[in-house]
Amino acid sequence: MRILLSNDDGIFSPGLIALAEVASRFGEVVIFAPDFEQSAVGQAITIQRPLQYHRVKMIKGFETYRVNGTPADCVAMGLFHLGGADLVLSGINLGSNLGSDVWHSGTVAAAKQGVILGVQAIAFSQEVNGEEPAYEKQKPYIARVIELLTTGEHPGLVNVNLPLEPIGIRWTHQSVRQYNGQVVEGQDPNGRRHYWFSAIPLTAPDEDSDRWAIENNFVSLTPIRLSLTDDEWLEKLSNVPVKFYDFAG
Ligand code: MN
Repeated sequence: MRILLSNDDGIFSPGLIALAEVASRFGEVVIFAPDFEQSAVGQAITIQRPLQYHRVKMIKGFETYRVNGTPADCVAMGLFHLGGADLVLSGINLGSNLGSDVWHSGTVAAAKQGVILGVQAIAFSQEVNGEEPAYEKQKPYIARVIELLTTGEHPGLVNVNLPLEPIGIRWTHQSVRQYNGQVVEGQDPNGRRHYWFSAIPLTAPDEDSDRWAIENNFVSLTPIRLSLTDDEWLEKLSNVPVKFYDFAG
């Protein structure tokens, strides 16, 4: 099995090496990662300037390329270079990607790009607590997840979140909740105002959601689909006469 690996934290992220180590048990690993951090760039692709990729020396001997682009660019470049792959893995992100984070996440976007280009993909993110990230407790779970999602019937795109002290694995749904979306104002040393976004969830997580799993020390597996169509509304609206919207006369 040929496995293309990417992330959004950049080529030097410890999470990338940890994921490569586990993935190499399942097949041949090739890494295409951004040459600097691209967190929260979402599904952006680069179209206003040329893209390049260069092979770099990497510890542990993995075939590694750095790309002057976004996570989605990296996956597209990697699949172009390799002429395809059997699996795209993204991560391990330095920080969880739960609920509405999925909209902004470069980690999830790299995986999505794989699926858009026809390759099964899994995104991995892990909680951080301010200390140097460690992956030894998570590695057996990551291996189990890759095994589970590459054998038998399985979803094409899964968002995986890893807690710091995993005790099991749960299938979850994406938690969709309201955030306070606070803008925090500050001042730089030259007296100029600047702003930071902060997002604090306003309600407790619903059971069996991704956030609930992480708060209860379970590895969270959320199957994701590419279609954003609101099927319930589409069903309701299909009974509404469209003539009203026809201005042709
Ligand atoms: Mn990141």
